[in-house]
Amino acid sequence: MKKLSTYSFELGPIRPPSEGGSHSLLIRVTRNCPWRRCTFCYGTPYNREKFQLRAVEEIKNDIQAAKMISDEIKNMSWQLGYAGQINNAVGAHLVQREPDLCRSHSFVTVFNWISSGGRTAFLQDADSLIMRTPDLIEVVKYLKETFPTLQRITSYARAKTIYHKTLEELKGIRAAGLNRLHVGLESGDDELLRDIDKGVTAEQHIIAGKKAKEAGFEFSVYVMPGLGGCSRSAHHAKNTARVLNEINPHYIRLRPFVPRPNTPLFDEYQIGDFEISSPHERLRELKTMIEDLTVTSRVCFDHMMNAWRQESGALLFTQDYEGYKFPEEKEAVLELIEEGLRVSESIHIDAKDMVAMRHL
Ligand code: SF4
Repeated sequence: MKKLSTYSFELGPIRPPSEGGSHSLLIRVTRNCPWRRCTFCYGTPYNREKFQLRAVEEIKNDIQAAKMISDEIKNMSWQLGYAGQINNAVGAHLVQREPDLCRSHSFVTVFNWISSGGRTAFLQDADSLIMRTPDLIEVVKYLKETFPTLQRITSYARAKTIYHKTLEELKGIRAAGLNRLHVGLESGDDELLRDIDKGVTAEQHIIAGKKAKEAGFEFSVYVMPGLGGCSRSAHHAKNTARVLNEINPHYIRLRPFVPRPNTPLFDEYQIGDFEISSPHERLRELKTMIEDLTVTSRVCFDHMMNAWRQESGALLFTQDYEGYKFPEEKEAVLELIEEGLRVSESIHIDAKDMVAMRHL
């Protein structure tokens, strides 16, 4: 039998936390980010490496490698008398037989994925929709055919790319099996979007979001409290609420801004041109935005940067991937914000502390 560690497939560096939570199978369909200009990011999660499309055949080979690993793990389960059930004993047996597997990211990804039910997959990297539509459809169909247990396939996408796709193209991609798009809205404030060089306007965000929803996608957007610093906080909050209300995405995921080394915005912060808002200022910004929301979205604080605390020291908001359902839980979120505002700022973890921690 061929050694399991000889099967491998390419993995990109990041995926959304919610996809980590569901142990999604990661399939890299492009490499890096085609934009690399947003001043808070600059493509640094991808080490600023150049964007590359991958050939459909290459991606299919990766899917096949994942399939071989998955089949071998299942075979071992049957051989050990676990009737296809994937548990720690199966993993331990495989690693005992082939110690190299501990260092195989491909094996670890597939093992965690099938032991969690094998239901979700995430297409890496930053903007899968930039692929030619027929190529993306072919890849998604192949992935679904290879792994019929998949119930959800998701991807990052730039709003500008969605904006440029036709509704028919988006419907075709959705029909092939891609269900959810994760999009960085960051802000609905045009001046701020220009400042951070997001490459998309508020209006284009709205058109892209509405079109993706009309095509049948679950739409998950990321918003960055604090991105406008102290000076643009109010405009950021108000205009972001306006854009969110227009799109009414399925998920609003909050990612408070912390300057990231090796980005232009970090440099601005270092020389004193950007002032990081305090924990209370951010809560007040959040309050302004949340008060204006009329959405039926789920509002999620599913990231460690949402580090506000209760008096007891516990997290202020749940970091659950499904978050709070609006409008039903809007009042509860506003009450939590008030609670956070009553807590001394010294109890909350400041974004400035997080910058310092990133340097450790
Ligand atoms: S599009 Fe996304 S990955 Fe690319 S630079 Fe902007 S935030 Fe970073």
